[in-house]
Amino acid sequence: MLILGLESSCDETAAALVTGDRQLLAHRLAGQEAAHRPYGGVVPEIAARAHVEALEPLIAAALADAGVTLADVDAVAATAGPGLIGGVMVGLVTGKALAHAAGKPLVAVNHLEGHALSPRLSDPDLEFPYLLLLVSGGHCQLLLVEGVGRYRRLATTIDDAAGEAFDKTAKLLGLGFPGGPAVERAALSGDPKAVPLPRPLLRSPEPHFSFAGLKAAVARVVGQYAPEDIAASFQAAVVDCLIDRTTRAMNRAGGATALVVAGGVAANSAVRGALSSLAAEHGLRFVAPPLWLCTDNAAMIAWAGAERFAAGLTDPLDVAARPRWPLDPSAEPVRGAGV
Ligand code: ATP
Ligand code: MG
Ligand code: FE
Repeated sequence: MLILGLESSCDETAAALVTGDRQLLAHRLAGQEAAHRPYGGVVPEIAARAHVEALEPLIAAALADAGVTLADVDAVAATAGPGLIGGVMVGLVTGKALAHAAGKPLVAVNHLEGHALSPRLSDPDLEFPYLLLLVSGGHCQLLLVEGVGRYRRLATTIDDAAGEAFDKTAKLLGLGFPGGPAVERAALSGDPKAVPLPRPLLRSPEPHFSFAGLKAAVARVVGQYAPEDIAASFQAAVVDCLIDRTTRAMNRAGGATALVVAGGVAANSAVRGALSSLAAEHGLRFVAPPLWLCTDNAAMIAWAGAERFAAGLTDPLDVAARPRWPLDPSAEPVRGAGV
């Protein structure tokens, strides 16, 4: 089985070819950092236009890398949401056009399902169910992943996502964009105990997250401490919150075979290291995708497409692009949180 995957939900345009037995035949990605940097964040209109320009050549290059044509592909998988709707539409419409032209089925992939299943692309031994900490630019959730399309949300953020807090902290410290890697780099030469910062919701009974108060606290100390000390202390506070909340969720994740992390913030080595120790303490396997598979890419979309296609899940060509699309639609809304 061979799946072409397309990703365009935020500021990465990507195309990849993945087989049902986990071979990554091609993986092309075009970032848009330079276009958004002057604005200190992703500008939706600029992103959508950049996706239009980048996507077609990326697909052609990916097919050439793999030495295949569209005729060799079994299905076309494209991100159908959630994300910046203009960008999502570019990838989804392109996927629909290719599927229609080549007479192949379309798989409309939830970007979050791409993140959620990505650890199964890099680790063939990762079985369902697993406890997933999904930490990205727009989401911070604990999910019990029971199977393809079966996600039970145990916790979410009541305000900001962890990645958002990294990006905001980078902006406040003048470290530039994108923020997460810049904060991690600055933290290397800082003292994580130098700046007293809050750990919102620490030890609260429900495993939900909150990062707005931490972000506000960082804003108050800017200028009073060295930037690298603020970066290190901020990162330590995020790690403490993630670990405390994940520990809380573990009691509710009966049967989980592994503790798994995915999403852009999963590329952070302090986060990975702390989760790895937590898993070891609880006798659980720890699985984290390689760094390039944590941040947005099309391999995870192709892989989620492969898992869905293998389960007989394809979509009609009039499937809609969705700006919001929770993985667990049955989860109750949490105060202040969208999904
Ligand atoms: P979502 O997946 O929720 O729709 P997104 O697709 O924009 O959001 P991702 O690409 O999955 O998010 O992740 C990007 C986020 O990860 C950004 O907030 C970025 O700052 C953060 N990030 C990336 N690398 C690191 C790192 N090394 N340390 C901390 N954060 C990081
Ligand atoms: Mg990005
Ligand atoms: Fe993402």
